[in-house]
Amino acid sequence: MTSTTVTMGKGCWLGFDLGGTKMLATVWDGKFKSLGSERKKTKGFKGAQTGLERMMDTIDEALSKADRSKEGLAGIGVACPGPLDLEKGILIDAPNLGWRNVPLRKELGKRYGCPVVIANDVDAGVYGEYRFGAGRGARCVVGVFPGTGIGGGCVYEGRILRGRKSSCMEIGHIPLIPDGPLCGCGRRGCLEAVASRLAISSAAAAAAYRGAAPVLLEKAGTDISRIRSGVLRASIEGGDRAVEEIVRLAAQHLGVALAGVIHLLGPEVVVLGGGLVEALPELYLKEVSHAVDRRIMAGFAGTFKLATAKLGDDATVKGVAAWAMEEIASRVAAGS
Ligand SMILES: [Zn+2]
Repeated sequence: MTSTTVTMGKGCWLGFDLGGTKMLATVWDGKFKSLGSERKKTKGFKGAQTGLERMMDTIDEALSKADRSKEGLAGIGVACPGPLDLEKGILIDAPNLGWRNVPLRKELGKRYGCPVVIANDVDAGVYGEYRFGAGRGARCVVGVFPGTGIGGGCVYEGRILRGRKSSCMEIGHIPLIPDGPLCGCGRRGCLEAVASRLAISSAAAAAAYRGAAPVLLEKAGTDISRIRSGVLRASIEGGDRAVEEIVRLAAQHLGVALAGVIHLLGPEVVVLGGGLVEALPELYLKEVSHAVDRRIMAGFAGTFKLATAKLGDDATVKGVAAWAMEEIASRVAAGS
């Protein structure tokens, strides 16, 4: 790989994923082979301090499973949801965790005595796919992950594309439909408002209520919190045409937004992942690809590959550890 692997090859790296319903810590060797992992529930306790303690417990147990001590750690990468201060390593706000202004870099650095890098969790997942998965070695990789929201990220010439202080690539909030449905961000007509799992589930629940989706009605009723990706798939496979149309339309909306992103960035690989794509990979690949093909300029045709994510849950926790190695090496090279 790069010189980073050579200079940073000693010791092990810890990747931490704070983004899911469970926190996940994995210890990796210098070649990113997994040495040991630990998961703990993310919810069920309140306050930053308790959360930090739970994070540290998770790290300690992962280290013990990997049969490594903290002295063996070359660095820690933490993948976080929500707005971040990337330079200072502060998690500014994570509503799903109830955390505000948590100085992760400082606190973990003090406890483990090694450099700590934080990254947006979607960016870390895209970096993982760039290094080890569907986007391996590409000059530009764009990742789109439709789930409860719609996450996006981009690795451009080996670096995560980012904003001045925090992450960028908010694909879910590309304005798509003027005066369209209200989005969670408070604006109207964002991609997320018409194509996220939440948008799909609420349209599907309405279809079930109207009697147009009998399989869905039987499996999950009309409660949108129960209409998850696997249930949507079962409903489509069971013959609910109305639900299939809802999901196809959402995938087409995704393709329209993606066509814009392709024009701006000219990626070689577009990685589709997340719960909906994992549940319905063929449907997503087909609809997104048709919608993109109908809208891109002729010069972009055939310049990129649309692929499904390869690494699953490992993308983020492996990606963020590899990104920490890359970032720390570039800080060393820059003398800071
Ligand atoms: Zn929005």
